[in-house]
Order: sequence, then structure tokens, then C-alpha cells
Amino acid sequence: MNKDRRTRSGGAARNRRPARGEGEPASARNNPAKARPARSAMASSGDPGAAPALILKEGRERSLLRKHPWVFSGAVEHMQGEQSSGVTVAVRGADGRFFAWAALSPDSNIRARVWSFDEAQPPGEELFSARIRSALKRRHLDFGGGRPLRILHSEADGLPGLIADRYGDTLVVQISSAGAERWRKLLLQLLFDETGCMQVYERSDADVRALEGLQPRCGFVVVEDGVVTDDVAATLEGAESSAVISENGIQYEVDFATGQKTGFFLDQRDSREAVREAVGVLVGAVQAGTPIDVLNCFCYTGGFSLAALAGGASSVLSVDSSGAALEIARRNLTLNGFDASRAEWLDADVFKQLRTLRDAGRSFDLIVLDPPKFAPTARDAERAARGYKDINLCALRLLRPGGYLATFSCSGGISADLFQKIVAGAAADAGVSCYIERRFAASSDHPVLMEFPEGEYLKGLLLRRSD
Ligand code: SAH
Repeated sequence: MNKDRRTRSGGAARNRRPARGEGEPASARNNPAKARPARSAMASSGDPGAAPALILKEGRERSLLRKHPWVFSGAVEHMQGEQSSGVTVAVRGADGRFFAWAALSPDSNIRARVWSFDEAQPPGEELFSARIRSALKRRHLDFGGGRPLRILHSEADGLPGLIADRYGDTLVVQISSAGAERWRKLLLQLLFDETGCMQVYERSDADVRALEGLQPRCGFVVVEDGVVTDDVAATLEGAESSAVISENGIQYEVDFATGQKTGFFLDQRDSREAVREAVGVLVGAVQAGTPIDVLNCFCYTGGFSLAALAGGASSVLSVDSSGAALEIARRNLTLNGFDASRAEWLDADVFKQLRTLRDAGRSFDLIVLDPPKFAPTARDAERAARGYKDINLCALRLLRPGGYLATFSCSGGISADLFQKIVAGAAADAGVSCYIERRFAASSDHPVLMEFPEGEYLKGLLLRRSD
């Protein structure tokens, strides 16, 4: 499987597995947590030489008892021992009771992220490799091998701050927490070994890294003789920075070096398929020759546009403000052999374009609204709500009777319930009545842990306008 894996030595990776402890941060290797000192020693407060521990305020252990993986700064009574970025701390009550092993994020309001709730399972090779294996097993059962997939989804897979998407034989990883950063080499090594991928590309450039006090890092992970190093390289001999993937029978080019996020929005896989089906329903309901016109707003590399064409749409107008994304979208059209005259690509601002279309008297049978995150946190919810209301109102005014609106929000700060209320308000203002035909969420390779509802960021509605 690993015959020609790209490593700096040029030849086949020897696939040497690092010895236990190797690849871990030096201080973590000597982590007193591993030695598990007596509880009394751990509980002694104020001693800088003590084992790193985070002591909770009284009553603030409740969320940890429910297995919620975050400790907010306001819950911390005091710290003891080393407090460097990403260091493993024992989270304890004032009486010394153990609640979790967690990674410290000294700069963040989310002060610690839980690795494990089991005192006998501190972070390290054993725990990480078990987490990676169970994430892979779950997805393999759900999806079968080889498909483009998110194989690690941060907290939901027990590895806070670590995301990994598989595109063909490339793994694209994103590290966004101080804890995952500290264990970077070991985590990447285990991923490299467990997945058998040819190359790992690191896209650790998400804005959230700044909140953790981390600098961006992007490039091919340099692997020497099978061992992951600290380095990344802009290019690697024999390695491509893009891949062609196949999703629901449609081919997409993914540029994981310069594309948005890790290059492709795998979370919308099921929704794209639902849009293809909805177009099929429309095509089936009209007399032959009646055109079915689709508008795809925030189209990125054309995911929903190609799905709509595959469903039989006569025309698809796609809008995005990224010229680079539209270039890939055009190539994707060709890649799938669709008739170029059925697709129009517009480099424009959606907020403005929706008004231009209204002024031009245009209307559509199916409209997709898949905007970027307007509200990363609950604090931005009000401003975001105005944005969602605006685009949904404008889109509903362009929707023909009996037509579909597939509308989404990937804002963590907007709940599914609130999103539905916003869209209902937009429909009322537009004077149209709609049925909710379907509710969308991220596909199941982006799992949501019940004890971590914050992980449920993507929500959407498939509305059908009544006649
Ligand atoms: N639906 C896409 C993913 C959309 S991501 C898919 O299935 O792959 C959001 C997109 O919105 C990005 O491509 C970004 O370039 C675009 N975008 C952000 N703000 C915009 C704006 N004001 N007008 C048009 N496009 C915008």
C-alpha cells in the first residue's frame, strides 16, 4: 500500500514507526501526568513544581460530568504547575477529584480542551491511535473505503482541534488548537501510518488558530524515511497540490493548497445529492421542453451547480465572489462533459446580484443559498441574522411557484431553530408560503456528539413554494 509514498528520502518510505514517546513534545514526554502522581500531590495548589493541573471553581464540574469537552476560562479557580501552550493538565475539582485530561490553551477563552475523561487514558500514542482507528472504522463501515471523506472531525472524534479530509491518496489536515499543535508530530505520524496515504498536506491556516496564539502553517508535511518532521514544504517531488475526486458520480477538482478550507466542502455531500433529486422532481413534473432554471448562490467550485445539471436542469446561473473558485468551477463543468451553454458563471457579490436579478425580472425554479459563516459565535448572531434574512427574502422573491429553495447556514452561532425562524420571517415578508420538505445537516462523516452540540454547525432547509 505504501510502496511509493512521497518522502524526502525520495525512495519508498521504510515506514519506520517511531518508538513510543518519540515525536511527542519533549515536555510532554516527561509529562508528570503520565507518571500519575498521588492524588494528594496533584491537589496541592500554588506549587509551580507541581503536576500541571487546572482546578475548577466549585459547581463548574457539571459540564465535565456530562462529558462536554471544553473548560471555559470563567470555570477556572486556579492553575498549578506548567502553563505553556498545549500542555496536558489534569482537570480537577477543589477537593482533588479527577475529571479529565485536557490540553491547555492559555490564550483562549476555551481554556482547556479535553483529551480524555478517563484517568487511566492520558493523551499519547495509545489514546490517539485508538481514536484514529475508531474514526476510520466508523467511516469505513458507513462509506466503504477510498471515497473522499472527512476522516477526523475534531471533538466529535475525540481529537479536539484536528481535522483530516481524504482526497484520493492525499490527506489534508488542519490543526487549530494548542493541544493538537503540541502533539502535531505524533498525531500526523499516526495518521500517516494508519491511513496509508501517500502524502499529508497541512492547511493550518484557519482564523481560529489566532485565538489559540498559533501562527499559520501550510504545505506538504515533510516525511523523512517514514518519519514525520516539523517541516512543511511548498512543493514535494512527484506530489500534486490538487486532486480529482468523485462524489455521487460527479468529478470535482480539489485544490487543497489554495482552495478554501481544505479545498472542498465535503459536509454538503448529502445536500448536493438532494438538490440533484429536487431538480429531477421538477423535470418530471413539467411537460417536455419546459425549461428548469437554477440559481446557485455562493457556488464556490460549482458543487450544487453540477448536481443541478446532473439532475437535468436546463440552465444554471452560479454566483461567487472568488474568481479562483469560479475558474475551478468552469474546469469541473468540462471535466464532467456538461454542455457549457447550460452554465453561466458570475463573479459577483450575492447581496447585490440578487437585487440585479430582481430588477431584471428574472425568476428561477430552484435556488441554492450556501453562504460562508456569517456568525462564528453567538455574539455575532444578530448581525448574521440580518444577513440571512436579506438573502433569503431576495431569493424567495425570485422563486417561481412550486419551486425549491435550498438554504443553509454554517454559523455555529445560529441554531437550527433560529435559522428556521429567520427564513420564516423572510418568507412572510416576501409574501410567499412554503413547505419544509427536508432539513439538512452535515453528512455523517462530520459526526455530531450528543454531549457536544456545538459541533452541529451546518443546518439547512429544503423549502418548496406552494403554487
Ligand atoms: N456551496 C459550495 C460551498 C460554498 S462556500 C459547495 O458546495 O462547494 C461559500 C462561498 O461563498 C465561497 O466560495 C466564497 O468565495 C463565497 N462568498 C463569500 N461571500 C460572498 C459574497 N458576498 N458574494 C458572493 N460569494 C461570496
